[in-house]
Amino acid sequence: MDNCIFCKIIRGEIPSVKVYEDDDVLAFLDISQVTPGHTLLVPKKHVPDIYAYDTDLATRVFSHVPEIARALKQAFPEAQGLNICNNNGELAYQSVFHSHIHFVPRYTSDDGFKMHWANNADQYDQASLTAIAAKIKSALAKEEVE
Ligand code: AMP
Ligand code: ZN
Repeated sequence: MDNCIFCKIIRGEIPSVKVYEDDDVLAFLDISQVTPGHTLLVPKKHVPDIYAYDTDLATRVFSHVPEIARALKQAFPEAQGLNICNNNGELAYQSVFHSHIHFVPRYTSDDGFKMHWANNADQYDQASLTAIAAKIKSALAKEEVE
């Protein structure tokens, strides 16, 4: 992971503004500060994306999400909300391939962060939703066996 920018930050080879660190994780300010307080939480172990976590690593990393969320709420009481995002794959806006969780405090509807959610509910009925769920359930059943 010699060329991974977040591994370099974890090793202290390039600067970062840290807000939390323990044996498993580092949280630091995102350089882009989409909104004030925009923070990243990363596992110290290099995993490229969500698919690469085992349950133990996921527990050790994701268990910090609520405490960071609460710290941001306390630090920025003027924020009206908080978006927590984890991008996987280029199409899904992942640009750094060391898995990370974004915390973006929200101040106003035009504070620099946008998400568009299409509503396609009218294109699905119970049968098509059940077929989709069956595919996911079958994949989950295989996960449990492995
Ligand atoms: P993503 O597009 O989800 O992969 O997010 C990568 C994030 O890493 C972007 O929001 C960048 O602003 C941020 N980033 C890239 N380089 C640095 C750095 N050296 N220090 C802090 N944040 C960084
Ligand atoms: Zn890395």
